[in-house]
Amino acid sequence: MLADRDHAAFRERIERCRTFALVTHVNPDGDALGSEIGLADYLRARGREVVIVNHDPVPESLAFLDFGGTELRTYDAGRDDAVLAAVDRIVLLDNSAPDRLGALEGPLRRWADRVTCIDHHPTRGTPWAESLLDVGASATALLIHELLREAGYRPGRGAAEALYVGIATDTGFFRFNSTSPRVLRTAAELLELGVDAASCYREIYERNSPSFTRLLGLALAGLQLDADGRVVSVRITPEMVASAGANGADVSEMSTPLLAIDGVRIAVLFRELPDGRVKVSLRSKGQLDVHRLALGFGGGGHRNASGIVTEGTLEAVARRVLHEAVALARSGEGASQ
Ligand code: 5GP
Ligand code: MN
Repeated sequence: MLADRDHAAFRERIERCRTFALVTHVNPDGDALGSEIGLADYLRARGREVVIVNHDPVPESLAFLDFGGTELRTYDAGRDDAVLAAVDRIVLLDNSAPDRLGALEGPLRRWADRVTCIDHHPTRGTPWAESLLDVGASATALLIHELLREAGYRPGRGAAEALYVGIATDTGFFRFNSTSPRVLRTAAELLELGVDAASCYREIYERNSPSFTRLLGLALAGLQLDADGRVVSVRITPEMVASAGANGADVSEMSTPLLAIDGVRIAVLFRELPDGRVKVSLRSKGQLDVHRLALGFGGGGHRNASGIVTEGTLEAVARRVLHEAVALARSGEGASQ
């Protein structure tokens, strides 16, 4: 947990700055957007000017989130570098790794002396001027909520919903082992502010297209088991995406049915990206640390959920990653859940 003095320092920083740009990682998820919306709500209520500059647009499943009139831009160097150069402060949320910024990496490194990072990912040696890092927090939105609460701020309904979505999605809707008393207390506070928990779930997870579900079927039908059933993996090729008609679908949730297989300890999703690189999503149960595995391939994340984006053919990447995953699953033999 963060010390009060960290929060106080952050609030003093806000007092001194008038204009802010909020930035997050590529392919923003619920926690990334929820954190941005929550912080923007607070800053704007304090009369600050805020613009959100994200590398990628809001995914379809999170389009219901209410930005409350905060300007939201999808990064365009020609237009937005001037904004990033001019604001008093750039706040980087839910990401501390420069390599998860895509095209925003250059400008953020250039202006790192004006970057405040608020995050819960374990990242070493970051270039940012100041950081509020709490790897014990289950979501960045949880940190934002605590920060605002200590400032005596009550988020509006839209911002409360966004913060709730951030916390809910990063904890797998309160079922991962990151679901702590701290998480549930925060969620309860947000429900008291009028958040409708059932509608958040419905909006995010029950609005899939038939083509997404078809792709899910194709991918799951080809699952591979290794290490005596402890490691399960699936591959998603552009051909499968095309044949299901599921372009642009977010497939990271596909690991849920894989982890549901009895005996499985690690689930791996390999996906060939349109630019030819391969995206690897890793999920594990209990003490098995896929974060260390991901670091070995230049990726990152958390103990039970990590990712890698790397060069190579799908098969070559799968062979190398599975070799490590099998070794890890075997090393965790007998480990408790
Ligand atoms: P996902 O599999 O949902 O894309 O990512 C799971 C977790 O791994 C996320 O919390 C994210 O922080 C991390 N992650 C995913 N891809 C990358 C990557 O390419 N680099 C780093 N450093 N972290 C990643
Ligand atoms: Mn997060």
